[in-house]
Amino acid sequence: MTRARSAQLYSNAQKLIPGGVNSPARAWDSVGGDPLFLKKASGSRIWDVDDNELIDYVCSWGPMILGHAHPAVIDAAVEATRSGTSFGAPTELEVEMARRVVDAVPSIEAIRFVSSGTEATMSALRLARARTGRSKILKFNGGYHGHEDALLVEAGSGLANQGIASSAGVHPEYAASTLVAEFNDVDSVRLLLQANTGEVAAVIVEPIAGNMGVVTPEPGFLEELRELTREHGVLLIFDEVISGFRVSLGGAQAVYGVMPDITCLGKIVGGGFPVGAYGASAEIMSEVAPLGPMYQAGTLSGNPVAMAAGIATIDELSKPGVYEGLRATTDKLADGLIGVFDASGVQAAVNRVCGLLTVFFTGNPVFDMRTASATDREAFGAFFHGMVDNGVYLPPSQFEAWFVSTAHTDADIEQTLDAVKKSLPA
Ligand SMILES: *Cc1c(COP(=O)(O)O)cnc(C)c1O
Repeated sequence: MTRARSAQLYSNAQKLIPGGVNSPARAWDSVGGDPLFLKKASGSRIWDVDDNELIDYVCSWGPMILGHAHPAVIDAAVEATRSGTSFGAPTELEVEMARRVVDAVPSIEAIRFVSSGTEATMSALRLARARTGRSKILKFNGGYHGHEDALLVEAGSGLANQGIASSAGVHPEYAASTLVAEFNDVDSVRLLLQANTGEVAAVIVEPIAGNMGVVTPEPGFLEELRELTREHGVLLIFDEVISGFRVSLGGAQAVYGVMPDITCLGKIVGGGFPVGAYGASAEIMSEVAPLGPMYQAGTLSGNPVAMAAGIATIDELSKPGVYEGLRATTDKLADGLIGVFDASGVQAAVNRVCGLLTVFFTGNPVFDMRTASATDREAFGAFFHGMVDNGVYLPPSQFEAWFVSTAHTDADIEQTLDAVKKSLPA
């Protein structure tokens, strides 16, 4: 496997683009080495610029749930492109797309499309502040909601910790207005809401955490969060940028039967194009301009090519049996991984939901950021490189989800498990 062309491009890119990448997760900083530069993809497969073919479990970090270059999505996008790529005026496609999202996601009655997940969460916070007249936000340690200032904050240590920015350049007042609780620990939320009575506008949570690796909500956690936020007059925001259209057509809220006040979408909703969205009841969404006083806008929002791709994606996902198939593929992979690890005496926790899984190298269960951090990251790095050498492309970090698509076949799973056997950490 030569990677000469990737190495050359990486070297050129580093002179022109910070770190050679347009999003830091694409660099291989946490596992070491030079990232592969990709040139094409189809179904479950990607090809790098040196013509190496790999099975892909990044899937653009989620959007490619149907696999790459799905014919229905490509046809829809190409057809839309021929009619013009952006108008800055309303189109029928936006109405068609909004109808599908409102029909699919139980708590959404009205929706605004934006151009990224970051824009969706940023707007959802503004909406929550507009609605409640309060300014503080509560998020969870290890929860990622895009790069908006108020959300680039994680706990230092201990649940009373307030607002330590995890990026330079974050306005200290924004960071200070963000409270950080522990995922799956409703008492940590209760304490913070009690200590900040009347000041918290919203609790924002990934109902299935995907950015500390996959961590599922323990039974009752989301229900109690719902109850507690209601008691305190705090809006509950589900960031379903990963879980939306992945764990079911209605997202995690449909799976767990817990309804947030505001939902954020991204990734899959754009079918591989830059789209995000936030939605809520018609009443809450009436705060948004031009109906209400909360301003939010976007030149390319509701872009017709992206809407066409999103519509085609949702229509494919709406066909009978799609999620059953995706779940079966995920289970086959997760069970296969556990089998290989058990047979070789490797201690690993495999967390999974429909279409997502993470392998944590630890003998203990992983249920929040603290337990996710207590894993063997060096072992992951070695494993990652073994997998790439054996033709399987994984997210280059212990704290990311592997994304399974409907294009992954049983043969792909077998080939993946073979690669795992060859890549096990010592
Ligand atoms: C990816 C992600 C975002 C940010 O979306 P972008 O399109 O990258 O801005 C927000 N929330 C979650 C849960 C995500 O996984």
